[in-house]
Amino acid sequence: MSEEDLSLEFASLGLAEPILRAVAEKGYTKMSPIQAQAIPVVLSGRDVMGAAQTGTGKTAAFTLPLLQRMMPHASASMSPARHPVRALVLAPTRELADQVAQNVHEYAKYTQLRSAVVFGGMDIKPQIAELKKGVEVLVATPGRLLDHIEAKSCNLNHVEYVVLDEADRMLDIGFLPDLQRILSYLPKKRITLLFSATFSPEIKRLSASYLQDPVLVEVATPNETASAITQKFYAVDGDKRTALVQLAKEHGIKQAFVFTNSKMGCGRLARELEREGLRTTALHGDKSQDERLKALEAFKSGEVDLLVATDVAARGLDIKDVPAVFNFDLPFHAEDYVHRIGRTGRAGATGLAISLVAPSDSRLLVEIEKITKTKIQPEVFRPQGQQRSAGSTGSSTGRSPYAAGGSERGERYEPRRASPRQEEEAKPVRGSSFRPKFMPRDPFFDQPYEPAASTDAGPAAWEKNSAPVVSSRLSPNIKNKRKVAALFKTS
Ligand code: AMP
Repeated sequence: MSEEDLSLEFASLGLAEPILRAVAEKGYTKMSPIQAQAIPVVLSGRDVMGAAQTGTGKTAAFTLPLLQRMMPHASASMSPARHPVRALVLAPTRELADQVAQNVHEYAKYTQLRSAVVFGGMDIKPQIAELKKGVEVLVATPGRLLDHIEAKSCNLNHVEYVVLDEADRMLDIGFLPDLQRILSYLPKKRITLLFSATFSPEIKRLSASYLQDPVLVEVATPNETASAITQKFYAVDGDKRTALVQLAKEHGIKQAFVFTNSKMGCGRLARELEREGLRTTALHGDKSQDERLKALEAFKSGEVDLLVATDVAARGLDIKDVPAVFNFDLPFHAEDYVHRIGRTGRAGATGLAISLVAPSDSRLLVEIEKITKTKIQPEVFRPQGQQRSAGSTGSSTGRSPYAAGGSERGERYEPRRASPRQEEEAKPVRGSSFRPKFMPRDPFFDQPYEPAASTDAGPAAWEKNSAPVVSSRLSPNIKNKRKVAALFKTS
C-alpha cells in the first residue's frame, strides 16, 4: 500500500477503538477528502470553516473527532448530570437533522456517549423526556432548540463544541436571528465548526463573528474535476410533463427525484403523474413531518418511482443510489442546481441529471453556466404526439419557440431574445398580476415562486474519478469567492 493510501486510513488518526469499530462496521475503507482534511484539525482543537456539502462525508468529518475529544467524559452512569450536552449540531431542516443524528448514533454506538435529535413538527414531550436523561451530542434545528431552551428542558452551559451544518441554508431560511440567540447562550470558550456549500459574504460575516482563527477546509470546485454525474439539458417544445415521462423512458430511468420550484406545482405535478399511472409521491414544506418521512421511506423502499420535490428535499438528504434527477423547473438560484443534481451520483456512483428548459429560462441557464463553468447547449425535445408549439408563445407563426424556423429533434437551442419593447413589457408591475403577452404560459411557472426553505447537499465524488483534497490552509481571511464543493463532468 502506498504512503498516500496509508495516510487515508482511519487507523492513522489515532481514534479510540470503539469509534474505529463503528467506522469499520459502516464499511468505510478510506477517508474522504473532507475527512482527511478536517478530522486532524478538529482533533487539534482548532475552529474549522469547511466548504463541503452533504454527500462529501462531512458528517463523519466533524462527528468522529468530536466523539474522540469527548471520550474522556464517556460514562456508564445513569445520572443525567454525568451526561451534559457537550456538542451541539445545528442543522437547517428536520430531514437533515434526522439524518445527521442517525449518523452520530451509528458512529457513537460502541461508546457510552449519548446522542439525541430535536426538531419541530413533532411532539415536544418525548424530546423533553430524552433530554432530561442527559445527552452528550444534541442535533437540533434552531427553532425547536429555542423552544427547548425556553422550556428549560436543556442546559447548554457545558457545550464545548458547536457545529453549524449547512450554514448557508440556515441563513437562506432566515435562521440568522435564531442562530445569534442560540450562540449567545453558549459558553464563549468552545470549538466552532461551520460547514457551508458556499462562502457568501453573509457566511463570512457569520464566521468572523463566531469563529476564532478558523482553518479553511475545502474540497474541489466544480470546474476542477470530473464527476460521475452526466448532465443533460432539453429545451422542451411542448408539454413538460409529457417530455418528462418520455425522457425517463428513453433514458431507461427507473427511479428519480423530480424538482419543481413551487409547492403548488410540486403537488399538482405529482397528482398528474400519478393519474398517468406512475408511482409518484410529493415532498414539500407543506407536508407534515410524518408525511415527509413517509414519502422518503416510500422512495427508499422502492414503493414509488418518482419523488416530486421542492428544494426542501434538494439538500441534505442522503438517499443512496438515486439514479436520476429531473429539474422539471430550472431552479431560480443556480446554487440549487448543484444541490439538486447532487442527489444523484453519490458516493462514487454514476448519475444522470436531466433539466427541462422552458423558452423563458435563458437567464437561469446563464446562471447555471456560470456556477458550473460549462457552456450549456440544450437539445430541443418535442414530445411525441405533440404539435409543434405555437400558441404557447403567443406567436401566430406556429414556429418553435426555441429556434429560428424550428426544426426536429437535434436542432440547436436559441434562447429567444426579447425586443427592447418586450423587455420593457416584461418588467413586473408592482401590485398587479400583469403578465407580458410574449411569455409562454406554463401551468407550473404561473405559480408564485416560494424561496426554497430547504437544506443542502452535494455530489459525493471522492472516489477514484474525482480530484481529491484541494487545499487545507490557515485562513483567517477567506477569499471572496463562492465555492461549491461539487464535482462535475468536464468532458
Ligand atoms: P455525508 O456527506 O456525511 O452526508 O455522507 C454521505 C454518505 O457517504 C453517507 O452515506 C455516509 O455514510 C457515506 N460516507 C461517509 N464517509 C465515508 C467514507 N469514508 N467512505 C465511504 N462512505 C462514506
